[in-house]
Amino acid sequence: MTSLAQFTQPELPYKYSDLEPYIDAATMEIHYSKHHAGYVANLNNAAKGTAIEKMSIDELITKIDGNTPAGVRNNAGGTWNHTFFWESMAPKAGGEPGGNLGKALIAQWGSLDAFKAEFKKAALGQFGSGWAWLVIANGKLSIVSTPNQDNPLMPVTSVSGTPLLGIDVWEHAYYLKYQNKRADYVDNFWSVVNWNKVEARFKSSSK
Ligand code: MN
Repeated sequence: MTSLAQFTQPELPYKYSDLEPYIDAATMEIHYSKHHAGYVANLNNAAKGTAIEKMSIDELITKIDGNTPAGVRNNAGGTWNHTFFWESMAPKAGGEPGGNLGKALIAQWGSLDAFKAEFKKAALGQFGSGWAWLVIANGKLSIVSTPNQDNPLMPVTSVSGTPLLGIDVWEHAYYLKYQNKRADYVDNFWSVVNWNKVEARFKSSSK
């Protein structure tokens, strides 16, 4: 019996050009159709004939520890992180987070600008490739970063929490448009953040 590929790449929830001018269409196309698709394909290959073949990506992420082979760790992270990242953005989005999330961010950092400054610091401070995250753990918000394709749900990482927002700071995420100016990419990221989605994640995390 031929088994279907276990791990799949969800359709991008908008067109490659929809995040212009903040994220250019060429970057989006390569990022989604080559990088993300590659992680999914490589994960399926690594999973073949092993116990993880029967897991969902959400379950697998929570089982990645020091014993997990690098190929599974990196490609599972790449699969999960990018799906999360695409959903974290939307065309004609940006603005400011409202509701309880806006209040919680202000309560934690003093102002939305202060929150954004801390997030930017984490994004710029991640040396080399990785991610910066807004996470929640035990009702407390914090900002963390992870190297490579790790994420805070993996037991292997030194940080932990449920991600509410994440930014990919691998050069492949911004180099075509921004070259070495990661700071400009992070500044423009705010113009495409899908706060409705982040707010929904915040709500379900507090259930
Ligand atoms: Mn990426």
